[in-house]
Amino acid sequence: RQAQYRRLRNKPSLTKDGVEITLQMNAGLLVDLPHLAEAGAAGVGLYRTELQFMVASSFPRMREQQLQYEQVLEAAGDKPVTFRSLDIGGDKVLPYLRSIQEENPAMGWRALRLGLDRPGLLRTQIRALLNAASGRDLKLMFPMIAEVDEFRQARELVDKEVKHLRRHGHATPENIRLGVMVEVPSLLFQLDELMDQVDFISVGSNDLFQFFCAADRGNTRVADRFDVLGVGFLRALKRIVDAANKAHVPVTLCGELAGRPLEAMALIGLGYRDLSMSPASLGPVKAMLRTLDAGRLSARLLPRLEPGHPDTDIRTYLRRFAAEL
Ligand code: PEP
Ligand code: MG
Repeated sequence: RQAQYRRLRNKPSLTKDGVEITLQMNAGLLVDLPHLAEAGAAGVGLYRTELQFMVASSFPRMREQQLQYEQVLEAAGDKPVTFRSLDIGGDKVLPYLRSIQEENPAMGWRALRLGLDRPGLLRTQIRALLNAASGRDLKLMFPMIAEVDEFRQARELVDKEVKHLRRHGHATPENIRLGVMVEVPSLLFQLDELMDQVDFISVGSNDLFQFFCAADRGNTRVADRFDVLGVGFLRALKRIVDAANKAHVPVTLCGELAGRPLEAMALIGLGYRDLSMSPASLGPVKAMLRTLDAGRLSARLLPRLEPGHPDTDIRTYLRRFAAEL
């Protein structure tokens, strides 16, 4: 199997009916970067910056952050990297960050919420990223956004930092693209406003599903109770990709879903064309999609999402569809 996947590495990522699917990888530490070439990924679709903070014993200084981002960009060469601003809090605990005991940390003071309340922290990170990407492209997205206005505030912080650097004669990135992780269901009802503001979006299906079904992603009693291939969640994912396509906003999906071949197949059927996953999943997903007729799959899958369709067991249907490949 491994040898078979390695042979696929340099083969085009095309479905049988010629639809191009971009496969990127998720990373969080410098040691992950060699996988870019090994797995044949098109870029880093999600760089989890909090990993550096989680393995440190105190807040990494601006220079340390900058150095890591420089090394990541250097290692990626001309492949794009999408950085995500700090997603701490929730299940990602920093022993040196004093915070109150929370009843529901996943829904608590975390990610961009913390960043906007402690702008010093977020601005330091933004400055490190701007410095590291000077003269090249910077792609940065913000986690756990529940209201479009939070993104506006984050963008304002970036604009301020850019002005500050320019005023002091520093070079800045040639091109800055700012995006939003869609991982809180409230954004599903603000999609038009969201698309007006962002340069790209990335669906964080791990958190989106946890909040969609109110089922803690880390609690085994409930995490597997509901199916990600259930009609409700698939409709939600379809709504997001449709809104992005309509507004010509690039959309990636970077949750664990993307790395499981059957689920990745469903995503392609819904219209997703850019998936980011752990490096080990690239081979299996590519092997799957190269045997797939995406048009035929969509024609079969989408009617099943319509209200009143008699067969609601989509997982079983997709398994049968996959078995015919
Ligand atoms: C997600 O929520 O789907 C995601 C990609 O982010 P994380 O798993 O780091 O929360
Ligand atoms: Mg998340």
